[in-house]
Amino acid sequence: MQPVSIALASSCFSPSYASARGRFLLAADRAGARLDIFTNTVARGPDGGTLTTDVAVLGPPDAQNALVIVSGTHGPEGFVGSAAQIALLDALATQAQALDVRVVLVHAINPWGFAHISRTTENNVDLNRNFIDWRSPPPANPPYADLHPLLCPSEWSPQAIEAANAGRDAWTVKHGLDAYVNVTSRGQYSHPDGLHYGGIGREWSNLTLETIIERHLDGVKRIALIDWHTGLGEPGEPFFLCFNERGGPGWERACGWWGRESVETKGGFEGAGRPSYSGLLFHGVQQFAPAAEVTGAVIEFGTRSRAEMRYALQIDHCLRFDATLPKSQHAAMREQLLDAFSPFSPGWQRSVLGHAIAIQQQALQGAAGWR
Ligand SMILES: [Zn+2]
Repeated sequence: MQPVSIALASSCFSPSYASARGRFLLAADRAGARLDIFTNTVARGPDGGTLTTDVAVLGPPDAQNALVIVSGTHGPEGFVGSAAQIALLDALATQAQALDVRVVLVHAINPWGFAHISRTTENNVDLNRNFIDWRSPPPANPPYADLHPLLCPSEWSPQAIEAANAGRDAWTVKHGLDAYVNVTSRGQYSHPDGLHYGGIGREWSNLTLETIIERHLDGVKRIALIDWHTGLGEPGEPFFLCFNERGGPGWERACGWWGRESVETKGGFEGAGRPSYSGLLFHGVQQFAPAAEVTGAVIEFGTRSRAEMRYALQIDHCLRFDATLPKSQHAAMREQLLDAFSPFSPGWQRSVLGHAIAIQQQALQGAAGWR
């Protein structure tokens, strides 16, 4: 891993969506990237301003291999992905043409969540559960109904939160940790005010990703994909969730790029198995570029303990749905939520940026040598 100075980290990490966007656009300009800007037509920023997903494209337009890097699928997790993309733009100023790879950087694919500091979209949709095939009924997740009131307490008081957490622990003892992690994380399509809600149709961000792929990945045969996230894994360390078929050629390719010990890690879910996720952005890319082979992963950086992350998700829910919560508490709670997903600690930021720079270079070299 490349050591990252305080100066580099602070020039890449931003304090707000607006600042992150500004730095990304400046870095894209410095790198001579082609820009494509998508304005969210259904929602506005906290200050009433416009929200955009910004796309920077480098490399030969006819290259058959591509590297696609996405930030901000889950709003407050976007600060790390944004920092990583900015660092890559600066590195690519001279490198991309020589590599014969199309590099497509998608900044803030969920700009509402990024700007408002919420994991979900303007419709409380977990974008990373929204890329299902909407021509069929969404996958059912019946046990979620029992867990819903325990995950999303209706009132923000220590008593209500403790009661909900006790109920959740009792459910986990009865059904097992594997079931708990799977039911709560796989995605649900029945509770619009719930956790990991996949929506009732395609979100603006989902439609936008399809347009981005149509415009910028036309004719591409091979796509290396990184979707940056935070919140799972050991603090400051990367945690890989490769969604290629385990043991298949895509999986083996990912192991070749990033190391088998990274891709095949068993950590991240407190000892439970990986949830049976539905509607991932990875699936969206596969669907929107059917002629291309896609190899890639969600790559998380750990931030805090699972208990603290569960609490952060409760804050996210409460800020959106609890009308009785005094407005005077909002700013402090939102800051707590942000610090849980994108810690302010300079040491953490330097660690994750160092890993991210190395991981992106491995993917870029992997995409360049993929035949
Ligand atoms: Zn995430």
